[in-house]
Amino acid sequence: MANQPMLKFVKIPKDMPEKRDADTRKQDFDEIYQEYAAEKAAEQASRCSQCGVPYCQSHCPLHNNIPDWLKLTAEGRLEEAYELSQATNTFPEICGRICPQDRLCEGNCVIEKSGHGTVTIGSVEKYITDTAWEKGWVKPITPAQERPESVGIIGAGPGGLAAADVLRRQGVQVTIYDRYDRAGGLLTYGIPGFKLEKDVVMRRNDQLEQGGVTFELNCDVGTDISFDKIREKHDAVLIATGVYKSRDLGGPGAGANGIVRAIDYLTASNRKSFGDAVPEFDSGELNAKGKRVVVIGGGDTAMDCVRTATRQGATSVKCLYRRDRANMPGSQREVQNAEEEGVEFVWLTAPQGFAGDTDVSGVMVQKMRLGAPDATGRQAPEVIEGADYIEDADLVIKALGFEPEDLPTLWGEEALEVTRWGTIKADFRTHETALPGVYAAGDIVRGASLVVWAIRDGREAAEAMLEKFNAKATSVAAE
Ligand SMILES: Cc1cc2nc3c(=O)[nH]c(=O)nc-3n(C[C@H](O)[C@H](O)[C@H](O)COP(=O)(O)OP(=O)(O)OC[C@H]3O[C@@H](n4cnc5c(N)ncnc54)[C@H](O)[C@@H]3O)c2cc1C
Ligand code: SF4
Repeated sequence: MANQPMLKFVKIPKDMPEKRDADTRKQDFDEIYQEYAAEKAAEQASRCSQCGVPYCQSHCPLHNNIPDWLKLTAEGRLEEAYELSQATNTFPEICGRICPQDRLCEGNCVIEKSGHGTVTIGSVEKYITDTAWEKGWVKPITPAQERPESVGIIGAGPGGLAAADVLRRQGVQVTIYDRYDRAGGLLTYGIPGFKLEKDVVMRRNDQLEQGGVTFELNCDVGTDISFDKIREKHDAVLIATGVYKSRDLGGPGAGANGIVRAIDYLTASNRKSFGDAVPEFDSGELNAKGKRVVVIGGGDTAMDCVRTATRQGATSVKCLYRRDRANMPGSQREVQNAEEEGVEFVWLTAPQGFAGDTDVSGVMVQKMRLGAPDATGRQAPEVIEGADYIEDADLVIKALGFEPEDLPTLWGEEALEVTRWGTIKADFRTHETALPGVYAAGDIVRGASLVVWAIRDGREAAEAMLEKFNAKATSVAAE
């Protein structure tokens, strides 16, 4: 990983671009989803003041060398910009599309901080790599020589794929096991296609397969093959299984038809976009068309659900969240996007149960207010006595977050140490777990997190494995 620069106070350069109002800044953020010409990329890139203290770089989990590739883009040297950008990021065109840049690189851009509107780093990153694919600059994976070591990766999400890429480029024999029929993890079946086009993900899967990575799909580790068997077959194993246990809601009527989990709803929508047969979508069970939709939750998954529901033709879409706008965990940019698309946010509301006999007809809602800050400084929601009502709904989507599955029990491997939250314990630098030769990366270690962090973990775990393989090869040669 590139050295992280020391942070220090930085003076805003005098030749700063003119201040931008809130609407223009929002448009800047949204450039990611617009047609993007070379001139626009160069214009944005040239707005970088080359401030000398790259907060953007230090707030990017991959420490991408942003100022330098912006400079190259501004000078029209796109191929060099691409080479630099891909040196630290396995999937720059994916991060460019779906990183919450307002919380990472762009939110810490010196120009943004001074109120002049961020340099749209994500859009430029996406543009550079999309152009590289178009122009044939993205090279196939062709290891200089094959190595004898083999690695088994459980989970074909961004963490597993990033590790596979690093290992395969060094000639390691890599097999990825995934229980789904397509690789990509949440890139494929979680994140909606209007944020991340599926051909962009499939292109990367193809690149890995053509580079010699073996995919064992439709293979649930713990059911179709045991964890022990995988350990036996490979010199090292990476667990990158993500977190898939949805947090649930109880209360009266919780079992009624029409109350669904966000992951099922989004997966059905994504499968439909692949042209798969999805009976639950066709029957209307997982389809918002013509329905009054209520989404419960305030994170980015909830935002994906409300925005998918509006696209499917829901008659109304409301989002219930128990805190207020300022205290919601999701990206403010996503909330603004959803509002512009007609979603109504009902802040300070907590579900108590559901109305309806067989089919849901509404959510029993308790109005809340924010009380005194707790030890963490966050205001806890409190019930307003007597302020409850029913929010009408034909489809209720529960988007309350995800927890890890109990892997030690599922895999019969009690020695695999987990935290009290059920995430796997792994060394923060090497990502090795309590089991020798077994590494872990991404959400299964961090809890529900971000694609860019999974990529970073996967890359670092692969590098740690290579270090070990090399050390072993050297000691064998010396004997
Ligand atoms: C709806 C939604 C939207 C999101 N949007 C964004 C976003 O816009 N930007 C962002 O940065 N992050 C977003 N995230 C978070 C991001 O997707 C995750 O942090 C990231 O995908 C984690 O990567 P991973 O490789 O750890 O796991 P995953 O992507 O979850 O992949 C894990 C893989 O492991 C497989 N697997 C699990 N168990 C087994 C088993 N026993 N045997 C075989 N295979 C198994 C799964 O099938 C899956 O393919 C979103 C998450 C969700 C749910
Ligand atoms: S990887 Fe994400 S955080 Fe890093 S520069 Fe790209 S968009 Fe920004």
